[in-house]
Amino acid sequence: MEKKDYDVIVVGSGPNGLSAAIRLQQQGVSVLLLEAKDIIGGGMRTAELTLPGFYHDVCSAVHPMAMGSPFFSKLPLADYGLEFAYSPLEAAHPFDDGTAAFLARSLDDTARALGADGKVYRELIKPVADNWEAVAEDSLGPFSFPRHPLIMARFGLNALRSASAVANRFSTTAARGLWAGMTAHSIQPLTNVASAAIGIVLSAVGHRYGWPVPKGGSQAIGHALAQYFISLGGQIQTGVHVSSLSQLPSHHAVVFDLTPKQLLTIAGDQFSPYYKRQLSRYRYGPGVFKMDWALSGPIPFTAPECRQAITVHLGGTFEEIALSEQQAYDGKICKAPYVLLSQQSLFDHRAPAGKHTAWAYCHVPNGSDADMTQIIEQQIERFAPGFRDLILAKHTMNAQQMEIYNPNYVGGDINGGIIDIRQLYTRPACRISPYRTSAKGIYICSSATPPGGGVHGMCGYHAANTVLKDIF
Ligand SMILES: Cc1cc2nc3c(=O)[nH]c(=O)nc-3n(C[C@H](O)[C@H](O)[C@H](O)COP(=O)(O)OP(=O)(O)OC[C@H]3O[C@@H](n4cnc5c(N)ncnc54)[C@H](O)[C@@H]3O)c2cc1C
Repeated sequence: MEKKDYDVIVVGSGPNGLSAAIRLQQQGVSVLLLEAKDIIGGGMRTAELTLPGFYHDVCSAVHPMAMGSPFFSKLPLADYGLEFAYSPLEAAHPFDDGTAAFLARSLDDTARALGADGKVYRELIKPVADNWEAVAEDSLGPFSFPRHPLIMARFGLNALRSASAVANRFSTTAARGLWAGMTAHSIQPLTNVASAAIGIVLSAVGHRYGWPVPKGGSQAIGHALAQYFISLGGQIQTGVHVSSLSQLPSHHAVVFDLTPKQLLTIAGDQFSPYYKRQLSRYRYGPGVFKMDWALSGPIPFTAPECRQAITVHLGGTFEEIALSEQQAYDGKICKAPYVLLSQQSLFDHRAPAGKHTAWAYCHVPNGSDADMTQIIEQQIERFAPGFRDLILAKHTMNAQQMEIYNPNYVGGDINGGIIDIRQLYTRPACRISPYRTSAKGIYICSSATPPGGGVHGMCGYHAANTVLKDIF
């Protein structure tokens, strides 16, 4: 093979870029990783966004998918300082009467607390929790004939349904609300086919591995991945914004941890007209409005369960949350949206003594510049009266600012493109390998490829395997 400066260049240091780089370097392929920002990590960065001494996760915060990732689980990340902090409950879901449903590490405890709906919950989640390794092997990657057909058939039977259809199996407000909070992570209408999948996966992984946060913040995952990559001989350059292929050192392959919109700008002239058309038709979903607070004390949730959980899903009943997701999808601002809230500092040192941090976001129409500050704070106040009195400082990012912060979040879409049934396996285009573009030596590895958003590195892992198969 002709000598080049590097075997492979990876552009973008999110979890998928880092995973692709590691997988390639592990196989003896020389890799240069380029990152536009001065700090690596993509959606895994932590910063003093509000006041000195208050550390906030800029993007991702809670990491069930990192825990359940077949690729990450094989990496020696603990040797590079990665440790996780856990809370007594994984997630809680408060209601207006002061009660709360919850996801505990124990499936039995969770099911028991759901009373009459415990049996249905167990039937839905237990087969996936018990067989997570098999489900992960068959579902966290490109479409292929399942290696575990019986387990996957059982998973698919529920996962391919809409969250609404599955919700109808529950009779209590508590179980239906908890289910809505889990499935609304999918950022799409809960009536969509396959919108149940994410709820099943997040609940099952929660029972197997928990919903922890990295000690010190999400940056710790990026740091550990980067240090391990460097220990293998990999090289990283930060502060390099790649805008054309001509600026890259010579290489056999380039792997982009970017989404179709940027890929078309950087390498569009290399692609076949058909592939270009496919990429230009790629669909992005609703955006997010993100908030961080420095607080003078813990959030005074009425329901005690909410004070024991790192993650709290706010929004009340299934119907309210379903409406909120439908409105964001339809381009409307919801006045009482589904809010994902994390209170990391209760369980990990993120703030000066006695003080706290909080992190939250809600879904908004793609590209929205709406300021959701009052609406989000009202939703927290609804379940934690007195919250506003604790605010020392706050930081906000609307959907447009999310994209300015990281061009992968097109219109504020944090999943790198909507993950509905039409784009589940055909992201970013319908091809035998979704990681291969139409141009020789150009690959894509971001969350715009299967299995999609979240910090798990599986898109990067599969993209790297495609490069290894094609070139090395
Ligand atoms: C507010 C928010 C909350 C989230 N919460 C969670 C959570 O709790 N748990 C979870 O698992 N996931 C969460 N996510 C989603 C998760 O962060 C993403 O799915 C994940 O980071 C996607 O990884 P990626 O490697 O595909 O891309 P990214 O992480 O987006 O990384 C892409 C990288 O490429 C760089 N880049 C972009 N353009 C260029 C260029 N032209 N040249 C060079 N470099 C470039 C960017 O700076 C960035 O570092 C959240 C995301 C957001 C925004």
